[in-house]
Amino acid sequence: MKIILLGPPGAGKGTQAKTLASKLNVAHIATGDLLRQNVAKDTDLGKQAKDFMNKGALVPDELVTQMISLRMQEADIEKGFILDGYPRNINQAESLDKILKDRGSEIDSVIYLDASEPVIIQRLTGRLVCSQCGANFHIKNMPPKVAMVCDNCQAKLFQRTDDRAETIKKRLEVYLQESHPLIEYYKKKGKLKRVSSDEDAGIVLDKMLKLLNREQ
Ligand code: AMP
Repeated sequence: MKIILLGPPGAGKGTQAKTLASKLNVAHIATGDLLRQNVAKDTDLGKQAKDFMNKGALVPDELVTQMISLRMQEADIEKGFILDGYPRNINQAESLDKILKDRGSEIDSVIYLDASEPVIIQRLTGRLVCSQCGANFHIKNMPPKVAMVCDNCQAKLFQRTDDRAETIKKRLEVYLQESHPLIEYYKKKGKLKRVSSDEDAGIVLDKMLKLLNREQ
């Protein structure tokens, strides 16, 4: 299955994409995670992306699309994938259509995780991320067993620099302007499925599996 997860920052795309990918046994491709890895390793791409990310702005399309295009050449893509954080605007969606078409393939489903603003703010301001495996926790909603330590790999947790109130505001503006039009784009193609994601992660996951006809 080839699935895109859409939705504002804080809608739960990262958390849901990880679980859904392991349930469906497909690859999880998170452009935000890939970019953060490049920033941490101080690669050329990381150097170019860092300032845009810290401001809450989008990294230029050509950089991200090249990164996705390379990722799509890896072997694990054959079993299917969940895209989390890409595409972020219509230009990227058109590039993705082309990348897949060149491989004789296309997206099967697009799930739009729709969350309300108070829930988004609460999730983002309390979010903690593992510095090693990328697992997400939350100070209140999903606290780690030991403070600031990852339950899975025991590495240190950190707060993302773009999860500060000012940057969150900017990211939400960027989402509305750039990414929200994707909902119409995929609706017109008959691929869009909407799921309200204000509830707990387990409930949202069940709803997504039902929509994909994969009740478990
Ligand atoms: P995320 O982890 O998805 O919230 O992404 C974190 C940041 O990475 C975003 O605010 C952007 O600066 C950058 N980013 C992630 N995915 C993309 C994309 N598809 N296009 C442009 N920038 C992106």
